[in-house]
Amino acid sequence: MAGAAPSEEALRRALAERQTAVDAQADAVRSLKASGAKEGVDAAVEALKALKIEAGAAARRLQAAVGSGGGAAREEMRQTVVNTLERKLFYIPSFKIYRGVAGLYDYGPPGCAVKSNVLAFWRQHFVLEENMLEVDCPCVTPEVVLKASGHVEKFTDLMVKDEKTGTCYRADHLLKDFCKDKLEKDLTLSPETAAEFKRVLAVLDDLSPEELGAKIKEYGIVAPDTKNPLSAPYPFNLMFQTSIGPTGLSVGYMRPETAQGIFVNFKDLYYYNGQKLPFAAAQIGQAFRNEISPRQGLLRVREFTLAEIEHFVDPEDKSHPKFVDVADLEFLMFPRELQLSGESAKLTKLAEAVSKGTVNNETLGYFIGRVYLFLTRLGIDKSRLRFRQHLPNEMAHYAADCWDAEIECSYGWIECVGIADRSAYDLKAHSEKSGVPLVAHEKFSKPREVEKLVIVPSKKDLGLAFKGNQKMVVEALEAMSEKEAMDMKAALESKGETNFQVCTLGKDVVITKKMVSIGMEKKLEHQRVFTPSVVEPSFGLGRIIYCLFEHSFYTRPSKSEEEQLNVFRFPPIVAPIKCTVFPLVKNQEFDDAAKVLAKELTAAGISHIIDTTGISIGRRYARTDEIGVPFAVTVDSATEVTIRERDSKQQVRVGIDEVASVVKELTEGQSTWTDISFKYPSHIGPQGDQE
Ligand code: AMP
Repeated sequence: MAGAAPSEEALRRALAERQTAVDAQADAVRSLKASGAKEGVDAAVEALKALKIEAGAAARRLQAAVGSGGGAAREEMRQTVVNTLERKLFYIPSFKIYRGVAGLYDYGPPGCAVKSNVLAFWRQHFVLEENMLEVDCPCVTPEVVLKASGHVEKFTDLMVKDEKTGTCYRADHLLKDFCKDKLEKDLTLSPETAAEFKRVLAVLDDLSPEELGAKIKEYGIVAPDTKNPLSAPYPFNLMFQTSIGPTGLSVGYMRPETAQGIFVNFKDLYYYNGQKLPFAAAQIGQAFRNEISPRQGLLRVREFTLAEIEHFVDPEDKSHPKFVDVADLEFLMFPRELQLSGESAKLTKLAEAVSKGTVNNETLGYFIGRVYLFLTRLGIDKSRLRFRQHLPNEMAHYAADCWDAEIECSYGWIECVGIADRSAYDLKAHSEKSGVPLVAHEKFSKPREVEKLVIVPSKKDLGLAFKGNQKMVVEALEAMSEKEAMDMKAALESKGETNFQVCTLGKDVVITKKMVSIGMEKKLEHQRVFTPSVVEPSFGLGRIIYCLFEHSFYTRPSKSEEEQLNVFRFPPIVAPIKCTVFPLVKNQEFDDAAKVLAKELTAAGISHIIDTTGISIGRRYARTDEIGVPFAVTVDSATEVTIRERDSKQQVRVGIDEVASVVKELTEGQSTWTDISFKYPSHIGPQGDQE
């Protein structure tokens, strides 16, 4: 039985030991030569050569393990995919004839079709399944909304500047690139330094600005383009600012996410839903972020489509009635403990992650499970999909828990969907700023007796003591929490007076017993009023689609084996075009039959193209495989045709009047290719031979 592969650390150690042996032997050879000794020199040189060969082998073993060789293959694969995508107009740099703008891309015809198919499936899988309330709000958003949400103050990334040229870089990206590069390319790293770089990569999102700046300094990281020194990291707000109306006085922003449009409509949506919780609202639309250094094609852009769900739930009951439907799913989960201890993601059953409290609550767990199903049904490879929990500093302070669906592609693990329990933060923030209570009610079937804190300030005594400041003292007394009030009551009863901090006055005042009465009173309540919590799955369409492109791409040799042909194995729901129609040879009868067939496909709502170019069928197949068309219909008679499946290249014979319904069944998932190949006779004809 083969033993386990040695760890990267063992390989680094082995290389370091061999290198030390080479250095020692080289010294020995040098001193032998310097002493003028004749004897033993040849043997020492031979020993040095042998040691160098061993060190070279150890270096190659380490190189293979750390994957810089794999990196070249990844790069090559990415180039092939990206070239195909751009050549076939899946996506193209925007404004290309003017040399483009970094971070802006257009979707061309097949890309547009894939995007709209993914969105249609998203609507079916989430909006339809959960009866979500879909809305469509403007992109231009007034400042007040984004001030309340915290974006004006905090929607920032840390930036560093080239101190001489002023070129801007994202600080965390520079540190990440530095550590990755060292780990992949510097074979002389000691195991300890390699472990340190790995730890930095694991906690990168958790570093404070000061820690990030300190690491950049410690590692001597400089501007990549000029090697000039860098400034300390400082925050840069990612929102595009604009003004609303002609005066320029009303500040607005292009929305950085679609969620705020839903939060500000909560009251109306709650009434629309019959004042019942839980319910979810959804929105698909453009989001804008002025990224510091857009890169990696569709993965980091300045304008992108977001599909977001805001699921409102009672904070005291975050169970989900449909959690059982996803509880048995098992997939890669990467909780923070594993990240911090340097381990890898583990296959975990969702039910276990929720019952152990690794995932904060059932509703959050339910959406994690639904996101897993959504992505894998689209064609994302489940072995390259993991759910990573946010580290403590990475998560917003108000969030209860947060997980990212990350997909591995040639650029590494990429966050494609964020799934967060944002607690009541957003609704509370907008309630406070707008003065409109964004709350829900739970009506009790019978009134409940509750003990309520009652604070009654004596305005007369407070007025005498504080004169013009009386109002602020009264407000501060009324705003006390139950604990503060009870502590004050105890102090007043034991000492007759107490110091009390009034923030709005910026000082402490002395409160005496007669100035306020504090007590608990029994009251009958008919309902509970509360701010709902929100669980938010947020999908970046471009990232999902790009990863899907990579996961679906493969090459296979042409029939002559002279070239490699590109194929996208999109599932039928994603494929930009569902089928192609080829008359086998140019003749009127076949052309007419193809036209009738095309009409029937249109009537059945199946996107298709007719290719009458007359080039070989093999060439025509290759052309459609390259844009991922799953089925090709070759018309070689007026009554019967062949349908060919893209990946198996199998063909069946089907009556021409049945084609539209067979392709519809296949693309809508009512039948699989295996079902169809059992039902219809298989075909190995001249067109098959040409592949
Ligand atoms: P966030 O609100 O930052 O969690 O982002 C939500 C989702 O939007 C992420 O999971 C990504 O899929 C996507 N996303 C965020 N920033 C970008 C960007 N600059 N380009 C493309 N997609 C993005």
